[in-house]
Amino acid sequence: MKKRTVCSLFLSGCLMLGCFSGCVKDAPVSKAVTSESLYVRQIPDLPEDFILGMDASSVPSLEAGGVKYYDFDGNEKDVFGILAENGINYIRVRVWVDPFDASGHGYGGGNCNIDTAVAIGKRATQYGMKLLVDFHYSDFWADPGKQMVPKAWAGMQIEEKAAALGTYTTESLQKLRDAGVDVGMVQLGNETNGMLCGETIWMNIYKLMDAGSKAVRQVFPQALIAVHFTNPESKDAMLTYAKKLDYYQLDYDVFASSYYPYWHGTLENLSQVLSQVAQTYGKKVMVAETSYAFTPEDTDFFGNTIGEGSTFTKNYPFTVQGQANSVADVVETIANTENGIGVFYWEGTWISAGGSSWEENSAKWEQFGSGWASSYAASYDPKDAGKYYGGSAVDNQAFFDSTGKALESLKVFSLLRTGNPLPLVPDAIEDAKLICDLNGEIQLPETVNAIMNDNSRQALPVSWDPIDEAAMRSGGPQTYQVAGTAGDMPAACYVSMAAYNFLKNYSFEDGDDGAWTAQALRPMDQLYIEEKASDSLTGDFHYHFWSAAADSVEFTLEQTVENLPAGTYKYSISIMGGDAGDTDIYAYVKINGEITAKAPMVITSYGSWDTAVIQNISCTASDTVTVGVYVKCSGAGNGAWGKIDDAMLNSMG
Ligand code: CA
Repeated sequence: MKKRTVCSLFLSGCLMLGCFSGCVKDAPVSKAVTSESLYVRQIPDLPEDFILGMDASSVPSLEAGGVKYYDFDGNEKDVFGILAENGINYIRVRVWVDPFDASGHGYGGGNCNIDTAVAIGKRATQYGMKLLVDFHYSDFWADPGKQMVPKAWAGMQIEEKAAALGTYTTESLQKLRDAGVDVGMVQLGNETNGMLCGETIWMNIYKLMDAGSKAVRQVFPQALIAVHFTNPESKDAMLTYAKKLDYYQLDYDVFASSYYPYWHGTLENLSQVLSQVAQTYGKKVMVAETSYAFTPEDTDFFGNTIGEGSTFTKNYPFTVQGQANSVADVVETIANTENGIGVFYWEGTWISAGGSSWEENSAKWEQFGSGWASSYAASYDPKDAGKYYGGSAVDNQAFFDSTGKALESLKVFSLLRTGNPLPLVPDAIEDAKLICDLNGEIQLPETVNAIMNDNSRQALPVSWDPIDEAAMRSGGPQTYQVAGTAGDMPAACYVSMAAYNFLKNYSFEDGDDGAWTAQALRPMDQLYIEEKASDSLTGDFHYHFWSAAADSVEFTLEQTVENLPAGTYKYSISIMGGDAGDTDIYAYVKINGEITAKAPMVITSYGSWDTAVIQNISCTASDTVTVGVYVKCSGAGNGAWGKIDDAMLNSMG
């Protein structure tokens, strides 16, 4: 176990603020939380003040539209009271400068400005929970893809902008102080991966953060100051952020990362990155955002980040138990990381707006701002929110069902201190996957993995529904879902019928075996085969590219097929990525060194794979056939990145 020290300054800070903020009125009477169905492994020696936080920014906008919250017994209660009773000791709230258009219509996402934070902060304080104020320093969502300057500060030079940011921070925090809110921590920006408030060079980012930092020290001298980044799986980038802040000597206390298990690499890696920052710079570390789905189903008529039809690798099943296990593992990791002070769950209260149709919910999202974005956001953020506005993309990751009733998994925050070691039982069945040649036999597996309530795996005998082998073989290349039963639970096997692929290492699963040739046409930062199942279309590997600077992504990736028999062929390849800016991307076929066919491709966002298909490729036995992909991106913000996978060259007969 790694060392962890409880900071006495932190504790005394809590006490002083507790007195200052005018006493805790309705702190819950500590009633032991118990569960007969939720398995929870104990995390030994978890400090009393270890932060178990919840971002609850959407609550007021949902409540304005009629949403109510209920405890496990179905009693309507203040949701902040329910959270406190279940071990949550900190509330996080995002704050936008002015998330409203000229007519006063909210952009959505809770329309969270400082007044929302005051309202949420007062309720948190009432139940004995501290508040983390998450300043985005934008008028709407700030993340690695965008850090837009607030309308009021647009066009300002850096010194003027920093002054405006400082004044805004001071005035906002004073409102919280005047309202008696127990502010324990303040964030200088949200997922500020090399950008903040429209600035993209570190000296300017530092000047903005410095102005915010000074304001926090002035208004809440006992509060912790946090900086927040994401993509811990890009370890070098994370360490660079810490180094830059050290170079400029920013005054801050906590280095925080987001950690979404389906995107952000392993927990081991997360711990290593944060430990290194803690050791090198003497900072506290934490997870500012994490979440996991309790169901694959959408409940608010607006599609979700993960869930149904998702191709993400599932380390945990999308079940109530899986959600709790995911949280417990993140908490345990941070508890065992040097200077680890806590974990915040992101938006565990962002449930359906409560309507029984898309139309009903949409009306609420527009009127109360309870979806992730309203149509009104278009005036500020036309490219993203303006196009894709709608409801909650995380209602299946909340700790309340669509009717507002608390889920058993909410008990994990309390139970992980004591443990709740129930007997092991299967919680879900892992999907089986099989690739069969169209000409071969279809051998369904005899066992499948049961995912137990402690997230371990146990093989279980499975019985499959009958399949029509002949029809599957004659149906061409496609994927069939075969249903079955293991124990008394439903099982599924995905059988992909595949035609013979004339390409070697088509899915990059063999690593760098020389089958593929990549050629960077500009100096690129990263261009290689990467092992990461969650970023692969199939299997564990894919071809990865990334480059930080604008206009620095341009390369080809190709394979020359040896001894291809004369005939007619079909070639396909898939790509996904982001931050691409203007692009010129296409799959191509070369015969004897000359490009004879092209198919354009697009990069949109994470997980959206685009597949190019080139048909009717005719060649003779003496032709040399090369297939490939050409990628050129101008890049937006951080520079373009992407993934290429699953190249197929099949006979068309
Ligand atoms: Ca949804």
